[in-house]
Amino acid sequence: MHTIGRFAPSPSGRMHLGNVLCALLAWLSARQQNGEFLLRIEDLDEMRCPRSFADLIIDDLRWLGLDWDGEIPYQSERTAVYEKYEAILREKGLLYPCFCSRAALHAASAPHLSDGRVVYAGTCRDLTPEQVAEKRRKRAPATRVRVPERTITFTDGVYGAYTETLTEECGDFIIRRSDGVFAYQLAVVVDDGLSGVTEVVRGHDLIGSTPRQIWLYELFGFTPPNFIHIPLLCDHDGRRLSKRDEDLDLGLLREKFTPEQVIGALACAAGLTDTAEPVAAKELVKAFLWEKIPKHELYLPNVFRDIEKN
Ligand code: GLU
Repeated sequence: MHTIGRFAPSPSGRMHLGNVLCALLAWLSARQQNGEFLLRIEDLDEMRCPRSFADLIIDDLRWLGLDWDGEIPYQSERTAVYEKYEAILREKGLLYPCFCSRAALHAASAPHLSDGRVVYAGTCRDLTPEQVAEKRRKRAPATRVRVPERTITFTDGVYGAYTETLTEECGDFIIRRSDGVFAYQLAVVVDDGLSGVTEVVRGHDLIGSTPRQIWLYELFGFTPPNFIHIPLLCDHDGRRLSKRDEDLDLGLLREKFTPEQVIGALACAAGLTDTAEPVAAKELVKAFLWEKIPKHELYLPNVFRDIEKN
């Protein structure tokens, strides 16, 4: 099988080391299989994702020595494509308008799973046309898709079997926001499906999105790719790195380190090498093996420990 991998960053900030690790592993896996590697900018929410961040991500990937094939699609320019797939769901009778406010959705009385995720209570699922017309006068609705009572299992490339019952652990989910912006869940499936992606590599925090995406793949007639979720990178207090913290983003790292130092330290943290010696990404391709990647959270390599944003 010809491998097509991809990296799909949301440019809501500059990349941090967790994002770099994801890009590195996705790239190594695709290149090791002599496959293609695509880059897509997930800037659906243009207010939060300015072009300047996308430009920086692209420049940072080049600096790291991670290349890609073909043009770079920007999700913000693909609304018409997503509308075609929204229409498929609508024709199947699966969509309904949802008028629930964010506050109502996250209220203490809403059903929560043990990991804190909220399952939609179904408040707007069976509104009458009159009720919909009445509510539309007050606010614009989001668009939700009605999930079937299906249990979906897939085999993750790192974590193994993962199962979710859509009605219980996912619930009807939003595919388009009330301001017209399409949701990640729809756009990611349409884009990966249309570009023939065979391998999705992304953070473990997204594993719970995968069953609903597999269901959408089926509805749209695409073959689901292999999914490989990777352990998250934490700082020494066990806190997940995030873009909000602005610590250790590539702007700062590029001032202090070479690309080979960054890649070498991450490769060692991920179990690919025994030492954190500087190494170019392309030197790691030949010996890359998913079996080396652990399931547990990864700790920030020591070389980055003492760096503070000042
Ligand atoms: N855009 C997402 C992010 O930056 C990744 C989505 C995916 O890989 O499916 O976290």
